[in-house]
Amino acid sequence: MNAKLIDGKAFAADVRARVAEQVARLKADHGLTPGLAVVLVGEDPASQVYVRNKGKQTVEAGMNSYEHKLDVSTPEAELLALVEKLNADPAVHGILVQLPLPDHIDEAKVLATIDPAKDVDGFHISNVGLLATGQKALVPCTPLGCLMMLRDHHGSLSGLNAVVVGRSNIVGKPMAQLLLRDSCTVTIAHSRTKDLAAVCRGADILVAAVGRPQMIPGDWVKPGATVIDVGINRIPAPEKGEGKTRLVGDVEFDSAAEVAGAITPVPGGVGPMTIACLLANTLTACARAAGLPEPEGLTA
Ligand code: NDP
Repeated sequence: MNAKLIDGKAFAADVRARVAEQVARLKADHGLTPGLAVVLVGEDPASQVYVRNKGKQTVEAGMNSYEHKLDVSTPEAELLALVEKLNADPAVHGILVQLPLPDHIDEAKVLATIDPAKDVDGFHISNVGLLATGQKALVPCTPLGCLMMLRDHHGSLSGLNAVVVGRSNIVGKPMAQLLLRDSCTVTIAHSRTKDLAAVCRGADILVAAVGRPQMIPGDWVKPGATVIDVGINRIPAPEKGEGKTRLVGDVEFDSAAEVAGAITPVPGGVGPMTIACLLANTLTACARAAGLPEPEGLTA
């Protein structure tokens, strides 16, 4: 392997430590404790794990965590009323409604009800618009984490050719907006892109956010490029025993690591950064609500 490994696990630990340090300062200097409310509807096992981890890491960073677990049959009106209540609660600076929601609840309506100033997932249309027009927004956590790692590795991103494969609202599009804001020349590729291999070969920064195991081989990677692999895919791993599986990204790691200048692994790359950035966004929302300066190095 020639590429430098970008260790997302270590980077996320560092982000969490910086959040905790600034939370402690906020408490000491202003008597303020950031609070994050997480709402879970139903008992989806993966969502339960996410919510538990979010709560644990929120408390470890010195912030208040408020968990609201609602029954799967909760009517939409009841969930909307809870969101309104959290919007009005001055102890709550960030609100996250865990997705997916049960079918009888209109996800878009719920996201639109969250106060944009508390929208720590960055999915509210106001935050999407603010990001697109280059204004101060709350930015989706996964692309924010990718941006932090890229800035750390490159310093300035100005003038670099960035290719983002994937155009979803939660990863691809906001990632492209953030790279554009940092003055990259950005190409967004998707399932209809012609000659994706050639497009990828032009990238100084290649971000893969597709959800297809190992679809980007090493010979699509420009020598020396930085590769950020957002994909999380579970594939069979017979070498570990019958019925066993393992996680892989959208990039064929071994061949890409031979040519890239730097690369994130899966697992242990982008994944751990997402919750760290949720904590960073909660701190940012709290500071903004109090009219205080932005947290250092933790925003887009
Ligand atoms: P979506 O399914 O919403 O979007 C996938 C995108 O990939 C689409 O824009 C699609 O194009 C594009 N695509 C699909 N097939 C191809 C192809 N053959 N060639 C080029 N582009 C293609 O996924 P998400 O953005 O939500 O997630 C992407 C991956 O990132 C997933 O593996 C997910 O698990 C992971 N993820 C990881 C996170 C983390 O690390 N914390 C957080 C969020 C996601 P089109 O629009 O044309 O259909």
